[in-house]
Amino acid sequence: MMNLGNSKNARIVFEPKTFVEIMLAAMVCEVEVSGLAKIEKRDSIYVIHGEPIVFDQTCSLVKTTFDETAYLLWQEKMVLAGQENIIQEARLWWHSHVWSGVGLSDEDLSTMRLIGQDYDWWLAMVVNKRCQVYMELWRYRPEPLLRTLIREFEFTEKLSPSMLERLLKDNEERMSEIIKQKVKIVKPVKTSGNDDDD
Ligand SMILES: [Zn+2]
Repeated sequence: MMNLGNSKNARIVFEPKTFVEIMLAAMVCEVEVSGLAKIEKRDSIYVIHGEPIVFDQTCSLVKTTFDETAYLLWQEKMVLAGQENIIQEARLWWHSHVWSGVGLSDEDLSTMRLIGQDYDWWLAMVVNKRCQVYMELWRYRPEPLLRTLIREFEFTEKLSPSMLERLLKDNEERMSEIIKQKVKIVKPVKTSGNDDDD
C-alpha cells in the first residue's frame, strides 16, 4: 500500500526557531492549521528555515484542507512584491491534526499531489498537540513518484532543553497573535441528522 523508500540519503535539518514556531502554531490553535516553510536544499540536505508562512484560512476542528485559493493569493502577493524566489523556496507543507494521530490522510495525499505537480520535490510535515511529528519527502521527478518516510531530523544547532523552553516562551505570544489573525474557525457543517464528529 505505502511504497515508502528509505531516507538514508536525505537529511532534514531544521532551524530550531522554525521548528518551534510550527509546533507552537499547532499548540496554540484549537483547530487544524496549515502553512508552509522555506527550505534551502543543498544536494541531499534540506534546511528548513525562517518564519513559517501562515495564510489566511478557515478551519474546523475536524477538517482542514489545503486552501488552494489562499495559496494562489499568497503566490500572487509574492510575485507583486518581487519575491517569486520565496514561492520556489516554500516547499514544506506543514499542518496540524490537533489531538489526532499524525500521518497523511487521503485528503493530504491529494494535496501533496496537487501542490507538487509543478515541482521535483516537496516535504510534508504533520504535527499534533501531543508534539508528534510525521514527515515525508516526495520526489515527483523523475517519475514515478517516490515517497520517502523521514524517520529522523536534525537541527542547525544543538537544541538543548533550556533553549527549547526559551524558544517556546519567547514565541508563544506572537504565534498566538498570528493564529488569531489568520485562522478563522468555523463549526463543522452538519449533514442531515448525521451526528458524526469524525
Ligand atoms: Zn492531515
